[in-house]
Amino acid sequence: MENKVITDVCIIGAGPVGLFAVFEAGLLKMRCHLIDVLPQVGGQLSEIYPQKPIYDIPGFPAINAQELIENLKEQIAPFRPTFTLGEKVEEVIKLETGEFLIRTSENSIVEARVIVIAGGLGCFEPRKPELKNLARFEGRGVNYFIRNTEIYRDRHVVIAGGGDSALDWTLFLSGIAERVTLVHRSDSFRGAPDSAGKVFDLAGEGKIDLLLRTNVTGLVGEDHLEAVRLEHADGSAGGIKADFFIPLFGLTPRLGPIAEWGLNLHHAAIEVNTFDYATNVPGIFAIGDINTYPGKLKLILCGFHEAALMAQSAFHIVYPDKKRTFKYTTVYGVHGF
Ligand SMILES: Cc1cc2nc3c(=O)[nH]c(=O)nc-3n(C[C@H](O)[C@H](O)[C@H](O)COP(=O)(O)OP(=O)(O)OC[C@H]3O[C@@H](n4cnc5c(N)ncnc54)[C@H](O)[C@@H]3O)c2cc1C
Repeated sequence: MENKVITDVCIIGAGPVGLFAVFEAGLLKMRCHLIDVLPQVGGQLSEIYPQKPIYDIPGFPAINAQELIENLKEQIAPFRPTFTLGEKVEEVIKLETGEFLIRTSENSIVEARVIVIAGGLGCFEPRKPELKNLARFEGRGVNYFIRNTEIYRDRHVVIAGGGDSALDWTLFLSGIAERVTLVHRSDSFRGAPDSAGKVFDLAGEGKIDLLLRTNVTGLVGEDHLEAVRLEHADGSAGGIKADFFIPLFGLTPRLGPIAEWGLNLHHAAIEVNTFDYATNVPGIFAIGDINTYPGKLKLILCGFHEAALMAQSAFHIVYPDKKRTFKYTTVYGVHGF
């Protein structure tokens, strides 16, 4: 069944800039719905560098990336934004009414007066291992993101990778799955030493299987994955039972479907004016890392500024008959919905 949301502003991308756009739109009484292909909000900050300190957010001499995202979530809460997470925006159609229809990969539909593209570097797509029959098992035992952890309960799970995701999910799923095997091509991990230590401890206690200097070389099964083939550094080969194979080799950003919505692009970024960060399609704005204009800097603070100016023009689209008066938050306060 179709899942349909009607809102004033549909924000594509729930990174820091998309989140702050909710605040600026909310001050002007516009409701927002955000869509992100990732299972969580926070964009690059939550996905790539959650524990790194950022030093150039005004008013914060240093703030951890994830903490900034938590603060933004708190700041926009009064405006009660709604979210569709874990779904990619595939299609944008302008309706005869002047509104936009936005359709996601899972067929969720959003109708909005204004679209704000805050898509950053584009969709993060998983780096896939080169296995002959990989596509056949995608969604049938091969998963690149872990969304619903319950599907792994009492099952045999093989995770591959050497970064934080592989380590963290090995630790987490060891308490849920029947058996977790972590396969890594090297004998040292890129992820946090503390997590690596815990993984070695679990393996030492016999609670998980750790296969170092090993690669997954094949997938076996009929309708669903049943086993994976392995090759070890000494040339020996083998196989293990696997209901699920989760390769966690990192994510690469790609502009993806945004390139097909009739927007003027320059080097995989959306061209905008610097008056209100509007694109060449009336009603569609682009803010944050995804846009380009002379002098553009891909910084969070620049995206925040762009969100503020975008909202002023979006207001006239959402409320064509209303007059906008500029008010300081110190004077007017923050009045949510
Ligand atoms: C290691 C590192 C360190 C950094 N340090 C700093 C720093 O110190 N200071 C600073 O100012 N900046 C820093 N940056 C840059 C900063 O992270 C970016 O400027 C910022 O993330 C841009 O925010 P954004 O909201 O525009 O995009 P993003 O954070 O990239 O978020 C965009 C979101 O859009 C989603 N998306 C894209 N396309 C679609 C689609 N079709 N459907 C659904 N969802 C979609 C993506 O999944 C993503 O979550 C750093 C970047 C990195 C990688």
